[in-house]
Amino acid sequence: MPLAETLTSVPVVIDDDKCIANKGCTVCVDVCPLDVLRIVDLADGTKTARMTYDECWYCMPCQADCPTKAVTVSIPYLLK
Ligand code: SF4
Ligand code: SF4
Repeated sequence: MPLAETLTSVPVVIDDDKCIANKGCTVCVDVCPLDVLRIVDLADGTKTARMTYDECWYCMPCQADCPTKAVTVSIPYLLK
């Protein structure tokens, strides 16, 4: 039985087409102070980054330091 019936959204989204984790990049994982990002394997055998815990501080280095601009952090309206 699945744990969840519907997909949930997380504040940090990675564009898999831009992510170069397959070439060894781990920048976003390394800069996150909360250690909530991970490199994961995709079904097609390539790698990408994913938010694995929704514990974001919205501090932004993952988005700012990604060499291919693959990271988008959605800051909640009330924090803007
Ligand atoms: S920093 Fe960017 S390119 Fe590198 S693993 Fe993270 S999302 Fe992918
Ligand atoms: S915004 Fe900060 S806390 Fe959130 S995923 Fe990026 S580096 Fe981690």
